[in-house]
Amino acid sequence: MANFQTHLNLGIVVSATTTLALHTAALINGSQTFSFFVLGVIGSLLPDIDSKTSKPTNILFSLIGAGLAFVTTLPWFGQLSPLQLTLIWAGVYVLVRHGFFEIFAHLTVHRGIWHSLLAVAAVTLSITDVAFWLWHESAQAAWIAGFVTGIGYLTHLTLDEIYSVDLLNRRIKRSFGTALKPFSYTDRWSNLLMLIIIVTLAWFTPPLTWLTTLPLHIVIDPAALLDQFRTSSEQLWTQLLHWWQHFIRTF
Ligand SMILES: [Zn+2]
Repeated sequence: MANFQTHLNLGIVVSATTTLALHTAALINGSQTFSFFVLGVIGSLLPDIDSKTSKPTNILFSLIGAGLAFVTTLPWFGQLSPLQLTLIWAGVYVLVRHGFFEIFAHLTVHRGIWHSLLAVAAVTLSITDVAFWLWHESAQAAWIAGFVTGIGYLTHLTLDEIYSVDLLNRRIKRSFGTALKPFSYTDRWSNLLMLIIIVTLAWFTPPLTWLTTLPLHIVIDPAALLDQFRTSSEQLWTQLLHWWQHFIRTF
């Protein structure tokens, strides 16, 4: 099984390639590239959410816990004493971070439903919906956000699957076929639940009409494509340099 570092490394490479390709195709602009890149990397770490001991799961639940604790305490600012606020904050955090986490860990099986193509679809659609309804992105940007996260997620599953084949010994490990599977082979109910989630999420997705306005002519014209690629890489470098200067100035 691939470890956290390997997943992170491949996630970065694949996400960078995907983002550059999208930028080359003029589907995203320079200022959006970094956010899409980060989403792709997050996607590549997400599947191990079903592993109790995995780093991303622990970080994710800590973040959700802290976030919900702030959301709960903020309306009470100025009305309650600092001690009361601290107690509420800590209570919500501990409940989410340890309470919900324990329940979630008991309900999920490692390499169960979260290591399946059904999960790829669910994650893609939920990011699309969140980007459109909560972040107020355009339909195109929302779908692309879902797409890059899905690519990252798929990269993780593929890597897990590759690691289950011992290439040197030409021996297949027991974990073969447990990562990149269409659905859970053992848990019928989790499949049904995931299907219901997918249908619900799909219902709320923004329209796909932007697909008809895509500049498809550049894909057919290699010279134009090369030209576009050159401009894109140049713009990306300028953007990176800009961020780097910003970064140096802040520290
Ligand atoms: Zn995994």
